[in-house]
Amino acid sequence: MDIVTGNIGWIEVVCGPMFSGKSEELIRRLRRAKIARKRVQVFKPVLDDRYSADEIVSHSDCRMPSQVIKDAREVLNLLDWRTQVIGFDEANFLGPNLVEIAQQLADSGKQVLIAGLDTDYLGRPFPPMPELLALAESITKTLAICMRCGNPAKHTQRLVESEELIVVGATGMYEARCRRCFEPGIPKQEYLEFAKPGRDRHTV
Ligand SMILES: [Zn+2]
Repeated sequence: MDIVTGNIGWIEVVCGPMFSGKSEELIRRLRRAKIARKRVQVFKPVLDDRYSADEIVSHSDCRMPSQVIKDAREVLNLLDWRTQVIGFDEANFLGPNLVEIAQQLADSGKQVLIAGLDTDYLGRPFPPMPELLALAESITKTLAICMRCGNPAKHTQRLVESEELIVVGATGMYEARCRRCFEPGIPKQEYLEFAKPGRDRHTV
């Protein structure tokens, strides 16, 4: 849902698993704000350098210029006071300070649009998204398509072995899975025959 009227501040969150179109939806909303002649600034975490250093890019190759930050607090220095709409992509990588910053921005009349993963590779709520969901005026949950059975998918399945919470990557490292097919952590290797190189699993 877009909030289309008013000049008060608010927080909109778009969340879901990888490959569910979160960045695309964020970019769509930011573009609409630009069409409405609002001043827009976009931020993304420094570790999300998968596609481009100074743009947010969706899996379907929608792009928008963005500024790279390590911590949400940097926004306070980088923000042009005239900016009306502030976008955050990959917000789950921006740390707990994003909650306070988003609240401050919204309280001061800014429209804050946030996209991020709502759960991690073990299926656990991914901070700071749960708090942002509680504080937001508008929430959109995007679903992907399960790569094993074709049902709507809410999980991000990690396909490579790692105990790290954050492994940055895309094709070949993760895929979307539904509740039934999701295997928290790393799937057994015998299930991965479909994950061999050459098969494009991430076109949805
Ligand atoms: Zn499934």
